[in-house]
Amino acid sequence: MPLLGAHVSAAGGAHTAFARGRAIGCDALQIFVKNASRWQARPISDEQVSAFRSAHADEPMPLVAHASYLINLCSSDPGTLERSQVALSDELGRCSALGIPALVLHPGAHLGAGETAGLEQIARSLDRVFSRSGNSEVRVLLENTAGQGTVLGSHFEQLARIIALVDTPERLGVCFDSCHAFAAGYDLRSESGYHATFAAVEEALGLQRLGAIHLNDSKFPLGSNRDRHENIGQGQIGDPFFARLLADERLASLPMLLETPLGDDGEGHRRDLERLRGL
Ligand code: ZN
Ligand code: MN
Ligand code: MN
Repeated sequence: MPLLGAHVSAAGGAHTAFARGRAIGCDALQIFVKNASRWQARPISDEQVSAFRSAHADEPMPLVAHASYLINLCSSDPGTLERSQVALSDELGRCSALGIPALVLHPGAHLGAGETAGLEQIARSLDRVFSRSGNSEVRVLLENTAGQGTVLGSHFEQLARIIALVDTPERLGVCFDSCHAFAAGYDLRSESGYHATFAAVEEALGLQRLGAIHLNDSKFPLGSNRDRHENIGQGQIGDPFFARLLADERLASLPMLLETPLGDDGEGHRRDLERLRGL
C-alpha cells in the first residue's frame, strides 16, 4: 500500500500539521507554506523552522507543499507576472528551510495569449525563479489541471512542453490529480481507460517524472473541464479507479494525497483514508 495522506491545515503554525495529519491517519502530508490566497507573508522565523523540523523528526513522513493559487507564471499583466515569480521563489525558500522537497504548482492561465505563448512564458518564468533560488534541492511539481478557462496543463503534452523548454528540467516533476485528469477528458473509470491514461503519462513525461498523486473523485462528468473535487467513491470516477491506482506497483513509491471535501463534520479526509485502505 502506498503512503496515503491529505492536504492538512497549517493553522497555528506549519508544525501543527503533523499532529493534525496523524489524528486522521495520514502517512504523508501536503501543506501550504504560507496563506495561499494572499501575496504577502511574513518571513518564516528560525523558531518556526525548528518547531517544524523537530515535529517532522518525531513523525517522519513524506512532505509536499502546495503553492499559492494566486501565482500565474504566464499572466499577461506584467505586475502579476513579476509578483508571481517573486512569490514562487519565496515559497521555494520556505520549502527549503522547512525541509520539504517538492512544491506543487498549477502551471498558469494564458488569459488569451494562447497556448503556445503561455507555455513559453511559463518556462521563462520558471527559469527566472530557478536562477533566483540558487542551488535549492526543492523540485517544482507541475500539476495537471482540469482545463477550465484559459488554464494550461490539462494535457500531459503541455506539461512535457514546459519541461522541454526550461533550462533545468531536473528541477521539475509532475503531480497527477485524478479529478483534474478526469475533468480534462481522461476516462479513469474503466480498466482500459486507466491504462490509456497512464500510457499517455508514460509517453509524454515518463512515469519517473511523477513526484506525487492527488487522490480526488470528481463532482462533474468526464471532460467537463470543471475543477470540483468529490469524496472518494462518491463522485463520477468511482472506487474501481482508486483500487487500481493503489495496486499499481509503478506508482507505489509516490505520496498519495487527498484534497477532498471535509464535509460538515470535518471528517471527510479521515473517512476517505479509511475507504481507500479498505478497497
Ligand atoms: Zn493543485
Ligand atoms: Mn490537486
Ligand atoms: Mn482542483
